[in-house]
Amino acid sequence: MAKSTFEYVKTFELDDSLLPNTWIVVRIDGKCFHKFADDHNFTKPNDERALKLMNYAAFHVVKEFNELLVAYGQSDEYSFIFKKNCQLYNRRQSKLLTTINSKFTASYVYYWDMFFKGERLKYPPTFDGRIVLYPTEENIIDYLKWRQADVHINNLYNTTFWTLILKGNLSPTQAEKRLCGTVSADKNEILFKEFNMNYNKEPEIFKRGTVLLRKSVSKENSGKPSAVIVDIHDDMLKEKFWHKHSYLFKNSKEIVLHEGSMTDII
Ligand code: ATP
Ligand code: ATP
Ligand code: MG
Ligand code: MG
Ligand code: MG
Ligand code: MG
Repeated sequence: MAKSTFEYVKTFELDDSLLPNTWIVVRIDGKCFHKFADDHNFTKPNDERALKLMNYAAFHVVKEFNELLVAYGQSDEYSFIFKKNCQLYNRRQSKLLTTINSKFTASYVYYWDMFFKGERLKYPPTFDGRIVLYPTEENIIDYLKWRQADVHINNLYNTTFWTLILKGNLSPTQAEKRLCGTVSADKNEILFKEFNMNYNKEPEIFKRGTVLLRKSVSKENSGKPSAVIVDIHDDMLKEKFWHKHSYLFKNSKEIVLHEGSMTDII
């Protein structure tokens, strides 16, 4: 096609390709979800429908991009990790961030009714997004541990806070005062002694969030390996997890997804 005289404006676009040979983390987070949760009657402190919708939307993202190794979600956020040698969109930052974010957001809306039966979506939700690069295997593992430690701290606090309100008849201000200066052990004790609740028995999805990963399985008829996406709620702070899944970051061989299956998710 002949070039128009306007075409020079294209040269104003800047190169935003990301440093090679680093793990690319895309993290998206719901905008003002404390309000979105209230407006859509999320159960306090954990709405299971909302978590499963987040997981299902993330599953569709992972399914679409073969170069995604792992995704991790909790609360209103999801992190998507590309393999180190990812070449998708020539590693252009804006392309990667915007396609992941819009696929996720569109899926969240598209599948809303599947999880929130009878709860009308009142307005379109917004998610923000950022990209962070990590150079070493230790950094990327610590990143995932950091996000999982965050859900642990928040969930123990929120579970105790809402139990004091819903079962202990405290006002939010009283509950906040009661928890001021407490450490984890104190919160566990309040739950156990005053409400006969064992925090360890709370659902794993609440305590640990959800890891989505590609797993190789043998196909029944052909015996050929293929990959599925599985959702797990294991403890990433334990080294056992990383021994079990060491193939994730060490093996850069392509694991191609043939069919997605998320057995527990719906
Ligand atoms: P920002 O726009 O800065 O991210 P935010 O209100 O989304 O503001 P976050 O720190 O991201 O703040 O916290 C998300 C909030 O969304 C939680 O504090 C909680 O109120 C609500 N929320 C998210 N997921 C759930 C869920 N599954 N069940 C109940 N509440 C949820
Ligand atoms: P890429 O992912 O690289 O953007 P693309 O297929 O979206 O690939 P574009 O150059 O963005 O390529 O072109 C958009 C295409 O979408 C058009 O070529 C046309 O086929 C189709 N399209 C978009 N809007 C309309 C429309 N209103 N009516 C008919 N076709 C449309
Ligand atoms: Mg935020
Ligand atoms: Mg948020
Ligand atoms: Mg958040
Ligand atoms: Mg296009």
